Amino acid sequence: MRLFRCPRCRAVAFIETVVCDACGLQMGLHPPTLSMRPAPEQGGDVEGTWWFPCSNRSWRCNWLAAADSGSGQCVSCRLTRTRPDNADTLALEKLATASADKRRLLVQLADLGLPLTPWHEKKGGLGFDLLSSRSSGNRVVIGHASGIVTIDLAESLDAHREALRISLGEPYRTMLGHFRHEVGHYYQWVLVEQTDWIAECRTLLGDERTSYSDAVARHYRTGAPRDWNEGYISEYATMHPWEDFAECFAHYLHLTSTLQTAASGSLTVRIEGVPHLPDGDVTPRSSYADATMDEILADWIPLATFLNRVNRAMGKGDLYPFGIVAPVARKLDFVHRVVTASRVETPFG
Ligand SMILES: [Zn+2]
Ligand SMILES: [Zn+2]
Repeated sequence: MRLFRCPRCRAVAFIETVVCDACGLQMGLHPPTLSMRPAPEQGGDVEGTWWFPCSNRSWRCNWLAAADSGSGQCVSCRLTRTRPDNADTLALEKLATASADKRRLLVQLADLGLPLTPWHEKKGGLGFDLLSSRSSGNRVVIGHASGIVTIDLAESLDAHREALRISLGEPYRTMLGHFRHEVGHYYQWVLVEQTDWIAECRTLLGDERTSYSDAVARHYRTGAPRDWNEGYISEYATMHPWEDFAECFAHYLHLTSTLQTAASGSLTVRIEGVPHLPDGDVTPRSSYADATMDEILADWIPLATFLNRVNRAMGKGDLYPFGIVAPVARKLDFVHRVVTASRVETPFG
């Protein structure tokens, strides 16, 4: 993640910051420049255009909305096609939490230059149905279909999500991870299945035309193959070629976001006596658009090893509880080439 600063006093801000901790300025993220700007109630001029605080600011959305957007909502909130009923305040609280993860996802997609056509502009465009399985009458299945990503807001409840993580035997389960995985399905559909990339994708990951429902039934009956970790990043990735791509895409976002965060703090990691790694210094970069996947991994492995030690120093589990074997590295390389080849200049239109 890139580093944000207060536009008035330059204090460090988080992507979620509404009010500057240091000087009290109301601030908001300006989507076209991915930077923090003042966010007065009456709006303000940013590079010749008038921007208002998003109408969901009382629900902690800190993005700015263009005066001519029509809805009063920012580009992130407009991507939400379906949300809980206004009377369902419990679900709205979870919506506010999940929306912060969605905005973190969108900033990274924009940073990577991934094309982003909203559902309200084009059929098959990207949109989000954010619903809670805890609300009466709702059955919510997390997934993607024809551009629309469905998320179960109940997963923003730690107790609920952790119980699921343990019962499914997963080493990592977060709301941000769900967003990164599901948007991977969207990008496979848009950038791979509808282009010439599909031939190489089938060679590397398998034929996505095989029955998905059969694959799901088989996975929940027999589980992943015993030797799954010799070819896949997770057990879930073994279920179907679609899931393999989405898992690799999510990991690509995990790696590049964490490397960019390290770069924003000018972190350098010294390697000395680490098995399989040459001694030397590794300095993560803020962008790997011009790098190869091998170069990304050469920076990532030592950084992840170090960050795992940091987590353990705090009595937590590994920050990155995964191993990247050679077949997975080849799939990540495929994702990297698709992403860099699809790069556009202005993702938010
Ligand atoms: Zn400030
Ligand atoms: Zn908003």
